[in-house]
Amino acid sequence: MWRAIAVLRPHAVGKGDSAIVKICPLASSSAGNSTYVATSRTRILVDAGLSRTETFRRLAEIGEDPEALDAILITHEHNDHVMGVHRIARKLDIPVYLSRLTATAIVWEGEPPAIETFQAGSSFSIGDIEINSFTIPHDAIDPVGFTLRAEGMKIGLATDLGYLPESIRHHLRGVDFLLLESNHDLEMLKVGPYPWSVKQRVMSRRGHLSNEVVSKFIEDGLDASVATLVLGHLSEHNNHPEIVRLVAQQALSARGLSTQLVVAEPGKQAPAFSF
Ligand SMILES: [Zn+2]
Ligand SMILES: [Zn+2]
Repeated sequence: MWRAIAVLRPHAVGKGDSAIVKICPLASSSAGNSTYVATSRTRILVDAGLSRTETFRRLAEIGEDPEALDAILITHEHNDHVMGVHRIARKLDIPVYLSRLTATAIVWEGEPPAIETFQAGSSFSIGDIEINSFTIPHDAIDPVGFTLRAEGMKIGLATDLGYLPESIRHHLRGVDFLLLESNHDLEMLKVGPYPWSVKQRVMSRRGHLSNEVVSKFIEDGLDASVATLVLGHLSEHNNHPEIVRLVAQQALSARGLSTQLVVAEPGKQAPAFSF
């Protein structure tokens, strides 16, 4: 059972490591998003918001061969999630999975990569990873989050959402590993450098989750099944990793949860988690 080994702390793993499932947020911030998920048979990226060169460099950093990638999954068409997708997919000749509507929102320059479309809300498999997509409230054409199941483990990936409706809380039940957005500190956003229209957009129900909303979710919605919680997609201008850590840790402590908490810092690669 995966749960029996869930207490393992994440560590940098290299080639030949016997991890069953390996997860690494290569980047998670408003400047670029890409998460690597691998089993012994299947290796995918969820989003490709870094350049090809940087993506390959970060994969090599955790001992992974970029050439071994099988597919790329896309959550939505914003540049911080798709900036590198074309070049990576074309270079490796691997398919890009994205929702039917999102596919129409991306303009490919030159020959497009192989595209596999799905209906937002549907489930499908890539190798031995089962993927379930779910609609998220965000100002893109058809944005989705994902839960992935592999080797008895359930992984939740939910960034870029204005709020956490019951439907998403439902999808995140039973998750063992959760990458959740904690985008901005409300006070920092209010006094920060963005024009008012952008502030309104970020704060709206189709914008991004604040530290305050995440704290509330930890207190009343986070499933106790979550052994590892990674908070990501931090704004570089309107948040600070230490504030995110403090606010979330207080909420976890209030719940009496010993969930492992990791904050993905903007510009830095998060650790590789192996289970
Ligand atoms: Zn984003
Ligand atoms: Zn977005």
